Amino acid sequence: MAKRRTPTPEQAWLADLPDAYLDCRMMGHADVDYTYRPDGRAHVITLSCSRCKRRRTFRLGAGLTREGRSRPNYSDAEGYLAPRGSGRADRRAIAARWVDHLGRLVDSPL
Ligand SMILES: [Zn+2]
Repeated sequence: MAKRRTPTPEQAWLADLPDAYLDCRMMGHADVDYTYRPDGRAHVITLSCSRCKRRRTFRLGAGLTREGRSRPNYSDAEGYLAPRGSGRADRRAIAARWVDHLGRLVDSPL
């Protein structure tokens, strides 16, 4: 009998990754919900993904230029990112799971 290998932390994470997160990782986020709030003379805009619930927050200053960090502030849903210390997520492994997920959708009766 073949020995079963213990999955790496990244393999375990990928096996449990929700299908919605796979869609976001492969197709990009579905940022359809947003909020806006003024903050003094600045503007704070937060986009929320309808699938994985990740939030991206932009802050524009009074001159309508982005303040602070050059990238938006991200708030990822728990489990969206690969576990710390496991390195970057394996794109091919994610794509393989996504294709499997899509295949199950196509095979499902309507
Ligand atoms: Zn998303």
